[in-house]
Amino acid sequence: MTVETDVSLQARLAQRSEEIFERMIAWRRDFHANPELGNQEHRTAGIVADHLESLGFDQVRRGLGGSTGVVGILEGGQPGPCVALRADMDALPVREATGLEFASTATALWGGETMPAMHACGHDAHTAVQMAVAEILVAERAAIKGRVMLVFQPAEEGPAPDWQGLSGAARLVADGVFDDPKPDAFFCFHVLQDERPGTAGEIRVHEGDGTYAMNLMRIKIRGRGGHGAYPWRTVDPLLIGAQVLTALQSIPAKNVDVNENAVTLSIGIFKGGTKFNVIPDEAEMEGALRFTDTTTGPYLEQRVESIAKGIAEAAGGSAEVDWYMRVPLVHNDTDLTRRMRPSLDRAAPARQAGGQGRELLSR
Ligand SMILES: [Zn+2]
Repeated sequence: MTVETDVSLQARLAQRSEEIFERMIAWRRDFHANPELGNQEHRTAGIVADHLESLGFDQVRRGLGGSTGVVGILEGGQPGPCVALRADMDALPVREATGLEFASTATALWGGETMPAMHACGHDAHTAVQMAVAEILVAERAAIKGRVMLVFQPAEEGPAPDWQGLSGAARLVADGVFDDPKPDAFFCFHVLQDERPGTAGEIRVHEGDGTYAMNLMRIKIRGRGGHGAYPWRTVDPLLIGAQVLTALQSIPAKNVDVNENAVTLSIGIFKGGTKFNVIPDEAEMEGALRFTDTTTGPYLEQRVESIAKGIAEAAGGSAEVDWYMRVPLVHNDTDLTRRMRPSLDRAAPARQAGGQGRELLSR
């Protein structure tokens, strides 16, 4: 599948895209109404794999990545490289409140707890688009130089808290899914919600480093529990946690050269306690430290640790920080990116992302 400049091929691709558009929307809405959390994408993966089989893909492999991953291989009509495309399939443990006709009411088990599920990151769109791409590629099989590998990946958002071992893309790599055939090039995209005027339908392209590196932290705060009526006999881990959470925000504000490094620190989980009048022994937070200058990772981690431990110790408690996952930033091959530009420009007005790591924020 090299860059094709044949005008009639381009016209056919545009025509086929037009023809499949309504069905693609229907697929996306169906996935949206039936979201599945990471490593539980059984229904989604089944629809995808059945679709690839019915289209006549040369190989369809199911159950990959320790759960629901699907890979389809399509041999083109002419010799050439192996090009892989990736779509992620998982939803997030978020309650949908959009009021859409196809809004999710689904729930699922997540780390032993029943949670709402919603396609809040757009992976429903990614899966539906790649199903449409599959169909167009099959129709144009004779024109394809080489082979295409379509990867439908589970658990891009990370596995459930009780999952053991690797998951998602890292698991597919570790399991040797890309060893044979080994893709010569790998492409993926992410939808993005941008409310600035004039950005609808725009394609943004990163050359080189893009997105953020992301280090995931779990902070355990230990205090001394007791009755809420006698707080002076306790060391309140919730109060310590509240102070830690606030103080951590000083890291992006005061410890970072904003000309060189885009840093965010967000805590998404803060939990502790069982009853209104009981001060608990422990509290726990989980969050993500994101940054674009990867050389600053160790320093930023150390800042998080000294703030958490310093505040906890000052209050008579203690804090422990566990960096349970470190996700590198995405690096897009410069040469490949440039070769793709003409095709992307034909598809939609493309724009070079202005600032490093500022566009595709969501993982
Ligand atoms: Zn996403």
